[in-house]
Amino acid sequence: MDLHEYQAKQLFKSYGIKVSKGILCYTPMEVQKAYDFVTTSERNLAVVKAQVHAGGRGKAGGVKLVRSATEANKVAEEMLGMRLVTPQTGAEGKLVKKLYVEAGTDISHEYYLSLVVDRSTKSIGIIASPEGGMDIEEVAHSTPEKIFSVSIDTSVGLQNFQISSLANSLGFDKVQSRQFAQLLKSLYQCFMERDLSMLEINPLVLNTNNELIVLDGKVSIDDNALYRQPEVREYVDYDEQNAKDIEASRYGLNYIALDGNIGCMVNGAGLAMATMDIIKHFNGEPANFLDVGGGATKEKVIEAFKILLSDDKVSAILVNIFGGIMRCDVIAEGIVAAAKELSVQVPLVVRLQGTNVDLGKKILAESGLKLVPATYMDEAAEKVVQLAKG
Ligand code: ADP
Ligand code: MG
Repeated sequence: MDLHEYQAKQLFKSYGIKVSKGILCYTPMEVQKAYDFVTTSERNLAVVKAQVHAGGRGKAGGVKLVRSATEANKVAEEMLGMRLVTPQTGAEGKLVKKLYVEAGTDISHEYYLSLVVDRSTKSIGIIASPEGGMDIEEVAHSTPEKIFSVSIDTSVGLQNFQISSLANSLGFDKVQSRQFAQLLKSLYQCFMERDLSMLEINPLVLNTNNELIVLDGKVSIDDNALYRQPEVREYVDYDEQNAKDIEASRYGLNYIALDGNIGCMVNGAGLAMATMDIIKHFNGEPANFLDVGGGATKEKVIEAFKILLSDDKVSAILVNIFGGIMRCDVIAEGIVAAAKELSVQVPLVVRLQGTNVDLGKKILAESGLKLVPATYMDEAAEKVVQLAKG
C-alpha cells in the first residue's frame, strides 16, 4: 500500500522528523486560506502540491510555487480536476482531487535518500546521493558513482559507522552530519516499526539556514503486514484504487485488471498465470488475472463473476478450476447460482478438473445453463478465444 506525500510526512512527524508546515486541501478556497496559514509576512513562499500516488509531479506541473493567496487560489483552480500525466502514471494520468499546501523552503542543496527492503541480501538498503531532486533516474544512469549505498543487517541494526560513511559521501560538515544521523535513525526506526517496504525522500534539502528538511516523501507499506498496522491502514485512499480491485480485496480475491476481452476465473496464482499464457498462445487477450484462492465458497465465486461481468470489455469468460482443497461441485454450484442471479450474456467456457469433478460436471449439465464444457486446458483456451471473437 502506498501513502500520499502528506501522509508520509504525518508519519515522519510522528517520529520527530522535521517537515514543513502544511495542510491538505480539497478546494481553491481552502488552498487560499491554507496559504495564509503556512506563510508569514516575512516569508511569503508556499508550495501547492498535487496528491496522487505517483512521482515526477514537479515536471508534470503538479508542484507549483506561489507567493500570494490569490496566486495560490489560481494555481488550485488549474490543478484540481486535472489529469496529471507523469512517467509513473501511464498515459491516462491520475485525477488530482487533493492538494497539499506547504511552507516554501529556500533550498541551498537537494539530496536523495531512500530505504528499501533488499531481498537479495536479506537486508535493508540505504541509498543516498548528493545529486537529489527531480532527475535521480538520470543520475543513476549517467553518473552511477554519485549514488552511494549501505546495507543494514537487521539483526544488529543501523550502525554509526554506516551513518558516517553516508554523511561523508553526501559531503556533510559536522553540523549537517549531526542532523543527518538523527534523521536517519528516526527513518530507520519508522521503517522497521511500520513494516515499510520502501521509503524515499527526494529531495532531502539543506535550506539556507543550514537545516536538513524532508521536502518530499514516498512510502510503501508491506500489504502482508497491514493487519498489525491499524494506524497506517487508516491511510488507504480508495480514490487511488480501481473499484474492481476494492471489491475483489473485500472478498479475498486476487484481481488485476488487464487490457484484453477474455475474463478469467481461476484458482491458484500459478494456474492463473498458465491460463493467461495459454490464452495468449491462441492469440487471445486476457481481460484480467483473477485468483479465487484455494478455499473459495459459493459466495466468493458469485462475487468473482460479478467483478468479471462488470467489465464491459469482457466478451467471453473462461473458468479454469483445479479442484484440490477446492471442490469442483462447490465451484459448479457457484457458477450456476451466479449465472442465474446475474443472467450471464457472454459465452462461458468451463473446465473443471480434480476433486469431485464428476459431481461438478453433473451439476453444470443439469442446470440447463448454456455453457461450453472443456476437459483440457488447451481445448478450453482455444474455445474461449474463438467465442470471444463473436
Ligand atoms: P515530485 O518528486 O513528485 O516531482 P517533489 O515534492 O519532489 O515532487 O517536488 C518537486 C520539486 O519541487 C522539488 O525537487 C523541489 O525543488 C520543489 N519543492 C517541493 N516542495 C517544496 C517546498 N516545500 N519548498 C520549495 N520547493 C519545493
Ligand atoms: Mg520528489
